[in-house]
Amino acid sequence: MDVSTMEERQAIRESVRELCRDFPDAYWRAVDKKEDYPLAFVEALTKSGYLAALIPEEYGGAGLGITDASIILEEINRSGGNSGACHAQMYTMGTLLRHGSEEQKRRYLPGIARGEIRLQAFAVTEPNAGSETTRIETKAVRSGDRYVVNGQKIFISRVKQSDLMLLLARTTPYDELKDKTRGLSVFIVDLRDVKGKLEAQPLDMMINHHTNTVFFEDVEIPAENLIGEEGMGFRYIIDGWNAERILIAAESVGDGRWFTERASTYARDRVVFGRPIGMNQGIQFPIAQAYAHIEAADLMRFEAAAKFDRREKCGAEANMAKYLASEAAWEAANVCLNTFGGYGFARDYDVERKFRETRLLSVAPVSNNLVLAFLGQNVLGMPKSY
Ligand SMILES: Cc1cc2nc3c(=O)[nH]c(=O)nc-3n(C[C@H](O)[C@H](O)[C@H](O)COP(=O)(O)OP(=O)(O)OC[C@H]3O[C@@H](n4cnc5c(N)ncnc54)[C@H](O)[C@@H]3O)c2cc1C
Repeated sequence: MDVSTMEERQAIRESVRELCRDFPDAYWRAVDKKEDYPLAFVEALTKSGYLAALIPEEYGGAGLGITDASIILEEINRSGGNSGACHAQMYTMGTLLRHGSEEQKRRYLPGIARGEIRLQAFAVTEPNAGSETTRIETKAVRSGDRYVVNGQKIFISRVKQSDLMLLLARTTPYDELKDKTRGLSVFIVDLRDVKGKLEAQPLDMMINHHTNTVFFEDVEIPAENLIGEEGMGFRYIIDGWNAERILIAAESVGDGRWFTERASTYARDRVVFGRPIGMNQGIQFPIAQAYAHIEAADLMRFEAAAKFDRREKCGAEANMAKYLASEAAWEAANVCLNTFGGYGFARDYDVERKFRETRLLSVAPVSNNLVLAFLGQNVLGMPKSY
């Protein structure tokens, strides 16, 4: 992969903006209200090739870097859309790209790049483990040429909208492990042809994210669908964390810009007490403050992305970018809601929808407390808190 030039990045930005113009506020509002999957948008993004940004060209993808991929997601959110509908395809891709066998990559990546197969689901979280991933209990037991899976996952998004799901499951009992980060393995589950009982029960959530509890009862996975080495799954997932954090930071920056743009426009136009509300410092300054925080977070996001693309260590920067950007986006969301007054709560203005959507980014896919724990322990050398 070559690092893209500034001109190439600007071209990606403009092209994604153009695509997003066909999916205005009303589209996202209707999808949200009906809790539909934004299929038309995801199909358009797939057709444009942008959803396959991170797939190397030899497998039919665009072969772009994380900087470029992050610009794509930023622009979707900045346009008023929600890249949460399909971002997992970028987040999860790394596990298959970095640790999948050549045969697995040839089997799946070209189809994903062409939009014939969707890889949108990643099943990690469990009710009894939560953030402590090494405590997951869903078991995959080898039996001849297959693994048999039993257990339960929670908050697993887009299971019903996906053809493939990556699954993290336990292949060695926790008590038998010396190194507790071992004993977990990643599998590709083909949701189009499940052997055994896999049941996805939709959860009633605050945002339109198609999130489910998933039950596995004697689900059989061919051994050839194991990614990499048995027992190394947690390591493979960690490898993807920096990319994921950079992409979330970019989505947050996109949201933050949407909020400050909407808020400042409204503050210029809305006249109360005979003058635009933006003349009041109580309205103007919080918007300016949120704007400054978003721009600062954006610098950290590009720093992290540049290091990632140069294959340098970027754990500190990726975590700081995720933290700063998600907090800044949430600040901007609150400020925007205050600026809109009562209208902020009216669905027609889209502020309340984006407000709900951006709130997720400080909690999932990783909570900001754990991001701070990473910085406290791994960067600042303080004692481990868990
Ligand atoms: C809409 C949505 C979609 C999701 N999609 C997916 C998905 O597709 N796949 C998937 O696998 N998961 C998914 N998740 C799950 C998400 O990744 C988890 O909710 C998240 O990682 C937190 O886990 P938890 O909810 O069990 O919180 P818990 O682990 O129970 O933590 C609760 C709170 O305590 C804090 N806490 C816990 N331990 C510590 C500590 N040692 N120090 C400081 N604070 C601590 C946490 O930071 C958090 O704030 C989704 C969640 C949501 C809400």
